[in-house]
Amino acid sequence: MFTRVSCASPAKLFCTANIMIDQLNTMETTATATPVKKQGMYDIVMEQFAHAAEVMKLDPGVRKILSKTNTEIVVHFPVKLDNGSIEVFTGYRVQHNNALGPYKGGLRYHATVDLDSARALAIWMTWKTALAGLPYGGAKGGIEIDPKKYSSGELERITRRFTYALGDNIGPDLDIPAPDVNTNAQIMAWIADTYSSTKSPSTRFANLHVVTGKPLGAGGLEGRDRATGFGVVATLKTWAERSNRSLKGMRYIVQGFGNVGYWTAHFLEREGAILVGVQDAGATYHEPAGISPEALNDHSAANGRNLSGFTGAATIDPQRFFAIDCEIVVPAALGNQITAANAGTITAQVVAEGANGPTDTEGEAILRANGVDIIPDILCNSGGVIGSYYEWLQNKRSEVWKIEEVLEQIHDKIAVAFNSVVSTAKEFDTDWRTSAYIVALRRLEKTYKERGIFP
Ligand code: NAD
Repeated sequence: MFTRVSCASPAKLFCTANIMIDQLNTMETTATATPVKKQGMYDIVMEQFAHAAEVMKLDPGVRKILSKTNTEIVVHFPVKLDNGSIEVFTGYRVQHNNALGPYKGGLRYHATVDLDSARALAIWMTWKTALAGLPYGGAKGGIEIDPKKYSSGELERITRRFTYALGDNIGPDLDIPAPDVNTNAQIMAWIADTYSSTKSPSTRFANLHVVTGKPLGAGGLEGRDRATGFGVVATLKTWAERSNRSLKGMRYIVQGFGNVGYWTAHFLEREGAILVGVQDAGATYHEPAGISPEALNDHSAANGRNLSGFTGAATIDPQRFFAIDCEIVVPAALGNQITAANAGTITAQVVAEGANGPTDTEGEAILRANGVDIIPDILCNSGGVIGSYYEWLQNKRSEVWKIEEVLEQIHDKIAVAFNSVVSTAKEFDTDWRTSAYIVALRRLEKTYKERGIFP
């Protein structure tokens, strides 16, 4: 049964919301009435999990537990728009597992946000935090919305009302959201302010770390903005150094030029790599001589975070983007972008998954058959959640950290995780994605075995 909860009333009613929802049916019917399986992100993450569980012979009980999400919250909430009309929005928060610590994961504002994607992204967060050695579980959520259609004032009211609807289902020691697609430091500041405002004044600052990715003035961490892109480049440097190569002079393309895409390009530029192609939701560019990431970012910032109208490179057919001649591909936008339809056109040596779930199962098989290395998302983009962990610690301890310390810590944690992934891949004679899963699953399995199951 698919249960939805209306949340037009106060938050406390939903403190214990724990909604069981059957797996979504992703079958669709073609014109010939033959049922065709449309692979959603949830299917992909479960296939990856099943494969890793088989390879490592995961304890059957732990496998059963991790196959399900703990809690799935769906809220509907009304907001008054600038023109005086009322619109009712739908928001989600899926909490997959908290065996290792509080739930952690981003909030996405996008038309594609639904239970299927929130579940998949929550599950990936559990693996990611476990692989990074953090004291966190995994969660994800967001609002099914195209934020470009709303004014800043409307977005603030939507965000505050969503936070109120989630109520005590989030909290600094329970579930800690962070930015994701179309959410940013400003939105995190509104969430922190709304959540804290519902608490007694004496505990206001004890709740600052209910979200991470906040602006510096609202308890944010220096370096959190660039943490994910910095981490993507840290994994690429390790990848290159493993075979005595350097990133200097390597050509790369980036899909998505938001937080992850821009900062990845910023740090790759510093390594001497050359950006030869870029794509966002509005435009696709190719320039073999190189594109300046900073010029692109200036243009995007002045253009409502949209690359259309950039004059420093030629536009190309969006369908030809992944076929651009280069050494490195960085998907840093949405899931399911590298598929059977385009994986065969990729001639690069490596795909560094800045986005979550950018490669589907068929796309991955084609990349592997063609000898393309894949730095899996749960390792490649883990710099973001590692940065969030240090923001959370900074708030908990009432400290202020320097950016150099933060980036060094992210670098070190990613290096440890990458080494574990490589050695585990050798141990099981498997690929890096499967070995990344095994490192994460071993940690979770050990925790369950040591702690036991209540009662
Ligand atoms: P963002 O909103 O800052 O940027 C998203 C970018 O993707 C934008 O440039 C947008 O135009 C582009 N885009 C959207 N739809 C597209 C399409 N169909 N084709 C091409 N480009 C498209 O989001 P972000 O925070 O940079 O997140 C990007 C990805 O990285 C997501 O998969 C997210 O889950 C993942 N991620 C983000 C963080 C983080 O710290 N922000 C951490 C880990 C992983």
